[in-house]
Amino acid sequence: MSLPVGATIGILGGGQLGRMLASAAAKLGFRTIVFAPGEGLPAAQTASQHMDADYLNTRALQAFAAACEVVTLEWENVPVAALDVITAAGTDVRPGKTALDVAQDRASEKRFLESIDIACAPWREVDSLADLKGAIEEVGPDAILKTRRDGYDGKGQVRLKAGDDLNAAWESLKGAPAIIEGLVPFEVEISIVLARGMGGEIATYPVPRNHHAGGILRRCEVPANVSSATRAEAVDKARRLADALEYVGVLALEFFVLADGSLLANEFAPRVHNSGHWTPEACLTGQFENQIRAVAGWPLGPTDLLAPAEMDNLIGEDAQAPLSDLLQRGSLTLYGKGEIRPGRKMGHVVRLLRD
Ligand code: AMP
Repeated sequence: MSLPVGATIGILGGGQLGRMLASAAAKLGFRTIVFAPGEGLPAAQTASQHMDADYLNTRALQAFAAACEVVTLEWENVPVAALDVITAAGTDVRPGKTALDVAQDRASEKRFLESIDIACAPWREVDSLADLKGAIEEVGPDAILKTRRDGYDGKGQVRLKAGDDLNAAWESLKGAPAIIEGLVPFEVEISIVLARGMGGEIATYPVPRNHHAGGILRRCEVPANVSSATRAEAVDKARRLADALEYVGVLALEFFVLADGSLLANEFAPRVHNSGHWTPEACLTGQFENQIRAVAGWPLGPTDLLAPAEMDNLIGEDAQAPLSDLLQRGSLTLYGKGEIRPGRKMGHVVRLLRD
């Protein structure tokens, strides 16, 4: 059933994605309640209301569920137990628990992708130093050790090369269950951002080329300079993933593109994604609006590209540049974060390349 204008949409998570989701919801005439622990959060500044409570606070979750017609999320590490409480209280969470459950653990994520014929880099589970030593023999010496849970923007990751001290690498994860992946000699990285509606209809966005440094996305260029066959295969795989999860909302699936054009999936995010931050300016309907449309049971908006575009993240001290310089670079979005810290995403700039 589709929500009426003026209905209230709940958002689990208080970061910049929630901030932009709340703005998109307001554009369409919805109210929003952000549920996240903390004060002065980016999303709390643009939402109609903020509930400052822990994700495991059952009473607060029940009150949140009662106040919202539907709940969505902007952070994939919300405990799935929170979704159970909200659903038990009679309010749907979109996307649902399955997508979150799968995406929160790198091992279950890769198993799920492989089960629907989406190939990943060679990987093994690592629960001990002995596992690590054995796995390195199989995936090769150039590899990345990643914690199974809670890693993002290169955190919880150790790069390994031949001759490295495996003991030190394993110790640095402090016993956290991990996986090891062979290092992929990719030519480029791309992602598919798509929206899937309540009736299973899918709108895919043009494909960006993503540039990372130190495990953090720095820049997107759209469209990516990949063959139409590679693009079509990536879109097909992302659609298959969304269908298999019976997904409602926006998701992003990241790929490595190899020299021969073949694809290996890296990971997926069950939410709007940094590699889609150019969509509000460069497409007829941005990813945030389509997430709101999808979870509200509304028809998805068209995703046509208006012009080739570039998006630069403002990370840490990038945001210390004079405001006049930032404004000159294009359409500026700031996340309302007070303190600039190294590696912290502070905002982004989008430029349309019309000529
Ligand atoms: P992740 O946090 O897993 O998304 O990794 C962040 C970034 O690190 C990716 O976008 C790649 O640029 C790089 N990376 C991660 N895993 C691999 C891999 N197996 N091979 C090569 N580069 C990788």
